Amino acid sequence: MFDHALTEEQKLLRDAAREFAIKRLYPNAEAFDKAERLPDDLLSELATLGYFGLTIPEEYGGMGLDAMAYALILEEFARACAGLAITLSVHNSLVAGAVRRYGTDDQKRRFLPRLASGEIGAYALTEPDAGTDAGAVRTSARPAGDHYILNGAKAFVTSADYVKMYLVFVSTDLNRGSHGLSALMVERATAGLEVGKPERKLGIKCSDTRAVAFVDSPVPKDNRLSAEGDGFKIALAQLDHGRLGVAIQALGIGEAAFAEARKYAKQRHQFGRPIAEFQAVAFKLADMKLKLDATRLLIDRAIQKLMAGERITLAVAEAKLFASETANWVANEAVQIHGGYGYMKDYPVERYFRDARVTEIYEGTSEAQRIVISRAVLSEE
Ligand SMILES: Cc1cc2nc3c(=O)[nH]c(=O)nc-3n(C[C@H](O)[C@H](O)[C@H](O)COP(=O)(O)OP(=O)(O)OC[C@H]3O[C@@H](n4cnc5c(N)ncnc54)[C@H](O)[C@@H]3O)c2cc1C
Repeated sequence: MFDHALTEEQKLLRDAAREFAIKRLYPNAEAFDKAERLPDDLLSELATLGYFGLTIPEEYGGMGLDAMAYALILEEFARACAGLAITLSVHNSLVAGAVRRYGTDDQKRRFLPRLASGEIGAYALTEPDAGTDAGAVRTSARPAGDHYILNGAKAFVTSADYVKMYLVFVSTDLNRGSHGLSALMVERATAGLEVGKPERKLGIKCSDTRAVAFVDSPVPKDNRLSAEGDGFKIALAQLDHGRLGVAIQALGIGEAAFAEARKYAKQRHQFGRPIAEFQAVAFKLADMKLKLDATRLLIDRAIQKLMAGERITLAVAEAKLFASETANWVANEAVQIHGGYGYMKDYPVERYFRDARVTEIYEGTSEAQRIVISRAVLSEE
């Protein structure tokens, strides 16, 4: 995360992502936001460049990058287009990561090359009545020979319409609560699978979000990751990785808002001088820089733990909570520094302000992160 600690290869990968972001994302992010969709040719280009296989091992057609290189690339994209960053994060961290960690050799051979080639994956855990209480999933999977028959509905599925496959969390035994959950890879083309209309959102508008429903949908038992009943464990473990992606997304949004605020503060004159010369404005910039650096340190710590094979739940919860609250605070202050112009769509801080909001909600709300952190605090002597 900090330049001095990076290898040459990590720097090269970051610089390539930065160049792509400057050429293809920065100039178009406003248009993507307005269209509420990422263009198909952009997704194809990203696929060709390998960005859908960032952490997928090379033997399965991916780039096989370490967590640091992955984070650096995601940050560059998040700075330019937060909606694209979450699309990549869900695909790489939540879906491909689950197959990589929990799939059999056969499942890895069947799914990872497709995911690496740009067949996008979605993660379908949330339901209308199962949000923070993710163990309350009611989408059922009834065994029928070598298949399960799925019935139920998922809510707020990121990339629902961009994808070729979903990682769906189902209950094979509704009496067992979270212990009855299983994780299934489900093809988009499955009979009875219906993708809903796009949700109309406050921010990250170019990221696709929809409900997905199942009516008597057959899914081969061969597509179940790990054993029956392991679904909740897989869902939570993957969320540790996804939350790290959200923390990086939030850092990128915060960095972008900070850069715009600094530029504007130096350009905008009032009372015959740049507003940056008023201490009230300069101190806002100082606090922005401080909080973003602290965010980077927390993310860096989580990545180091991940790369050392240590448990990351607590470090990631702290990073995600601080990063998302910082992104919202920084974006708010960036709007303030822009005055009335910050409230208009003519300046990107308006979009950053909207995009930041969801980072405190998805993949575990700020309250959920505080539950994780407070439990750890209270379990210590
Ligand atoms: C744009 C977007 C994209 C998303 N993408 C996906 C996706 O790809 N896949 C997916 O599965 N889900 C996705 N989600 C769902 C997201 O993860 C949930 O919205 C989130 O986990 C919160 O669940 P909920 O909306 O049902 O809120 P609720 O759980 O109903 O929470 C409402 C409020 O109550 C608080 N609360 C709930 N329980 C507690 C508690 N025990 N203690 C203290 N406070 C509590 C919450 O913090 C929140 O403030 C997405 C959501 C959005 C907005």
